[in-house]
Amino acid sequence: MKKVQTDRRKFVKYSTLGILGLVLGGGVIFSPYAVGAENRLRPPGALAEKDFLALCIKCGQCLQVCPYHSIKLSDFAKGHGVGTPYIDANVRGCYACEAVPCVLACPSGALEHTCEKPEDIHMGVAVLEFADTCLAMSNTPVPKGYNQKMIDFTASVVNLTPLEEKLLEKFSGYEGEQCTLCADMCPLSNPLSAIAMVPDEKGGHKPEIYDGCIGCGVCQEVCPTKTPSIVVKPRVTYEQYYASN
Ligand code: SF4
Ligand code: SF4
Ligand code: SF4
Repeated sequence: MKKVQTDRRKFVKYSTLGILGLVLGGGVIFSPYAVGAENRLRPPGALAEKDFLALCIKCGQCLQVCPYHSIKLSDFAKGHGVGTPYIDANVRGCYACEAVPCVLACPSGALEHTCEKPEDIHMGVAVLEFADTCLAMSNTPVPKGYNQKMIDFTASVVNLTPLEEKLLEKFSGYEGEQCTLCADMCPLSNPLSAIAMVPDEKGGHKPEIYDGCIGCGVCQEVCPTKTPSIVVKPRVTYEQYYASN
């Protein structure tokens, strides 16, 4: 029987290494990319990919009710599953709404109604994939224009919601500060269950990710480095990602 790692602090240790380090360390028996090419973030409550694709009727109800405009419908350029909803964490993560309205709106069961609150969401797992570019780890202050992407996104939204306005406000004022954006913007009511900034060996700080992470993608969205240093591996649990023999 496979032993599943359940100790939160042990997940932390691995979560900062990235896939390569894990492979070199011999700790990985599961690769999220082994699942197949169609492996993207789906809205909260999404069934396993095959069942999700079979049940989703592409009605767009989930995206209609999302107050953060997090959900998109895939087009031909995105390939398989045309018309199905997904979340592009480089653009806008899921802000883990209290009553998970996207799930409530789904008429087909493709988003499972047992997902009733943020803690029930399991979209994937955040990983500090590019530790070498993380601003906090190199003691580099948050640069000017770090929030331009969110400003542009907000400007492009026709029916902007008060929640999105509040979000932009929360995201302001970091220029010149030490970067703690991923941890500060984590939308969980107890973000410390998912991520925290901790001192690292080189005198800087680093984000540590814990097993309360729901894979919402917000940390990836807000990370100010050109290619986000922190990314979400879609559709896997910590148990799958960090399982050891
Ligand atoms: S939980 Fe909220 S923010 Fe996340 S996808 Fe659903 S409606 Fe959008
Ligand atoms: S660490 Fe927080 S913001 Fe990042 S994916 Fe996990 S729950 Fe979302
Ligand atoms: S948002 Fe987090 S991962 Fe990205 S640079 Fe800042 S501290 Fe590093």
